[in-house]
Amino acid sequence: MTPAQIGQLLMQAAAGDEEACGVLIGRREPHIRVEAVLAGQNLHPMPARHFLLDAATLLHADAVARATGREIIGFYHSHPRGTALPSLADRRAAWPGYVQVIIGTTRQGRRYLCAWIIAADGAFTPLTIAPSSNRPAPE
Ligand SMILES: [Zn+2]
Repeated sequence: MTPAQIGQLLMQAAAGDEEACGVLIGRREPHIRVEAVLAGQNLHPMPARHFLLDAATLLHADAVARATGREIIGFYHSHPRGTALPSLADRRAAWPGYVQVIIGTTRQGRRYLCAWIIAADGAFTPLTIAPSSNRPAPE
């Protein structure tokens, strides 16, 4: 992720009391690389504690990814009042093989990011977020 994309997620998370969410577009090879971030709408009836990404954003992200030779590699959402650890609901809703970036909030109100990759059995494994440049990956 570029520093600008990380900043975009932090700003979106800080914009309200509800969970922010969106889609991560990029590549899986040679390593997982986020190249675009698409903000979605949280349609969950209890948006302060849960998120439900709107289908229009998901479809749009899929179209953008296909048109640019990339793919949806994962999703992100925020925990306005909690850590960046996956909740029970996150674990239940997880898609194996996809990245989940969670924006947590410290007791002091500071936002931070953690990235997770979801294994076939649903386990969440932490990923290191390495800030990248805007240069395209070498072919
Ligand atoms: Zn969550």
